[in-house]
Amino acid sequence: MVDGLLDRLGVPASAYTHGNHPVHTPIDGSAIASVHLESKAQVVAKIDKAEQAFQAWRNVPAPRRGELIRLFGEVLRQYKADLGELVSIEAGKITQEGLGEVQEMIDICDFAVGLSRQLYGLTIASERPGHHMRETWHPLGVVGVISAFNFPVAVWAWNTTLALVCGNAVVWKPSEKTPLTALACQALFEKALKAFGDAPDGLSQLVIGDRDAGEALVDDPRVPLVSATGSTRMGREVGPRVAARFGRSILELGGNNAMILAPSADLDLAVRGILFSAVGTAGQRCTTLRRLIVHRSIKDEVVARVKAAYAKVRIGDPRKDNLVGPLIDKPSFNAMQDALARARDEGGQVFGGERQLQEQYPNAYYVSPAIAEMPAQSAVVRHETFAPILYVLAYDDFEEALRLNNEVPQGLSSCIFTTDLREAERFQSASGSDCGIANVNIGTSGAEIGGAFGGEKETGGGRESGSDSWKAYMRRQTNTVNYSRELPLAQGIVFD
Ligand code: NAD
Repeated sequence: MVDGLLDRLGVPASAYTHGNHPVHTPIDGSAIASVHLESKAQVVAKIDKAEQAFQAWRNVPAPRRGELIRLFGEVLRQYKADLGELVSIEAGKITQEGLGEVQEMIDICDFAVGLSRQLYGLTIASERPGHHMRETWHPLGVVGVISAFNFPVAVWAWNTTLALVCGNAVVWKPSEKTPLTALACQALFEKALKAFGDAPDGLSQLVIGDRDAGEALVDDPRVPLVSATGSTRMGREVGPRVAARFGRSILELGGNNAMILAPSADLDLAVRGILFSAVGTAGQRCTTLRRLIVHRSIKDEVVARVKAAYAKVRIGDPRKDNLVGPLIDKPSFNAMQDALARARDEGGQVFGGERQLQEQYPNAYYVSPAIAEMPAQSAVVRHETFAPILYVLAYDDFEEALRLNNEVPQGLSSCIFTTDLREAERFQSASGSDCGIANVNIGTSGAEIGGAFGGEKETGGGRESGSDSWKAYMRRQTNTVNYSRELPLAQGIVFD
């Protein structure tokens, strides 16, 4: 299923045959390749090499570093269709979403190229005569990137393009569920390196491995920054370990994203927003809409319309004309069924959620998206289940809706559908949504790269991608220069 694609993308067959770790496609559950999982010692050797590459790369002028990323963007444009298809095959995303993920990589390349001429520091007024102060930004060193299965290529690109223009080297450990797309990204990046000509060897490397390989990155003191995307469980392990050696981390962890649907909302728009956010990527986005907090006066109408829309959703092979592809694997399906059973136990009324296409694909896990009308925001609702389950909660007054939005451990994305300016502004105010993303009349998922991406509380607090997220990949230096013939002290201190 993938040999021709991988060949076109430049991945040698030796990288994905005769390995000790089978790779399955969620489309039909079949094994499509096998890769070698690398040992901790191999990871350490790659960090050694990256460290050496960093010593040279940090002295290359930033706009020249940007040129490498410009070339990478060109390569991605050329191979967008093939890489997008591979994302579909390995992660189960529909073609449109697979292509969208590659487009996101291209967009961040463009952003990073511009950024390579804009790594600005401040100049600061000095209180001492004949002095000036400024801030300069310097690269950190080797950046470790750990990524999740559900955005197998874009998350790496968000981190790597910024890290490289900032002057760092990168070692990437993708999810063990999606090593093929990672091999393809590495092969495409090597095409850009070749066109660039003189980048140091080992500047951006790939580690195929499981959590042991991830731990080798987490524990190595030569990796000053670890950017880790995945479950809150993973972040709970990684965050303290990196902090214990005074490293920095960017944590991009689980979400439990809500929409407040107010009585004044444009319901046509809202139902479309719900559909894309709740069932897109089969509910396997960190920003997937998981909680619908709807005003009691419109709840029945909205639920009826969403159910009608759900009934029309085409489920099946993500490469064909379908809107919902498979779940990643059987544990994911089991977790969904467990959550629905718990929802019933906690007083919920469940619609949908059944396994689909079982006869056609006995080893793959397609499901109809589920809606669970809940009497309260009970334990199951407060937990992120990485599958298409939309919990519906009714509210009577706006303060209650805001409280429900915020009363979960996670804080990634949120939105409100309303035409009431006061509600919209309050939602985005300091006493409104407590999430990293708060949208008005747009769903919770589908962020653009221009903004900083990430969330609060158990989502980990990290920010990636646009705005000034680049600062996390650099160290700040404060410089004071005395161009006078005196040595005055700050705070007027006399020390004669
Ligand atoms: P996961 O936590 O199982 O794995 C993520 C990555 O962490 C994998 O590469 C894995 O090998 C590695 N890993 C696991 N334990 C580790 C450890 N102790 N040390 C080092 N590395 C370790 O997550 P998943 O199932 O691949 O992805 C789904 C989760 O990711 C969901 O919770 C989703 O919300 C979250 N996610 C968050 C964002 C975000 O930006 N906030 C984006 C995508 C996915």
